[in-house]
Amino acid sequence: MHEAGIARSIAAVLRGRDVAGRRVVLHVRGGHHGPDEFEAALRLHLEIEAPDLELTSFEIVHDPVPRFCVGCGAEFPAARPEDPCPRCGGASLPLLDREQVEVEIAG
Ligand SMILES: [Zn+2]
Repeated sequence: MHEAGIARSIAAVLRGRDVAGRRVVLHVRGGHHGPDEFEAALRLHLEIEAPDLELTSFEIVHDPVPRFCVGCGAEFPAARPEDPCPRCGGASLPLLDREQVEVEIAG
């Protein structure tokens, strides 16, 4: 499962840092799943992969990614897969196929 691999990478990055009590922001870009579905799966896998990080608060941010409209071919940035094409209102596909996650340690 894709989310398990991402959770493992995040856990590996965070283990080397002192993140206790800090806010960790996960920037998610791309992917076919609904963001809520992806977020739920990622949180579940993070708990499994890194139970020691339970006190760390994770904030998951969905950054806009380039998508293209299947109706008219327009390219536009959108954070969520269900965002319609601004030109024709059609459905779109991501130019980034799988989710990419960037870890930011804030605050
Ligand atoms: Zn369109």
